[in-house]
Amino acid sequence: MRHESLRLCTNRTYPTNGKPSCIKLAEAGFYYASQGDEVICYCCAKRISNWNEKDDPMRAHRLVSPSCPFLIRNSEVNEPVTNDSIDSSNPRLNRILHSLNG
Ligand SMILES: [Zn+2]
Repeated sequence: MRHESLRLCTNRTYPTNGKPSCIKLAEAGFYYASQGDEVICYCCAKRISNWNEKDDPMRAHRLVSPSCPFLIRNSEVNEPVTNDSIDSSNPRLNRILHSLNG
């Protein structure tokens, strides 16, 4: 789950209405718990729910789990979505990413 693109895939069923964007959630290390609007950090396993549209997932993450490796050593534990992966040869992933980018 260290790949941001994989987290985005789990977030595609996320109820985005009035919630932070699933891209922001993935960027903050979260994937969808498939229950309500609850998301889970793949690094520290903290769960956050009851999101507000104006919430900043990264800030919320720091509040509940200030010592999470995702926040402290991000470059070591995270594989961000890059332009390379968007133009990758995986057509299914491409479709998901493009639909998320709107
Ligand atoms: Zn965490």
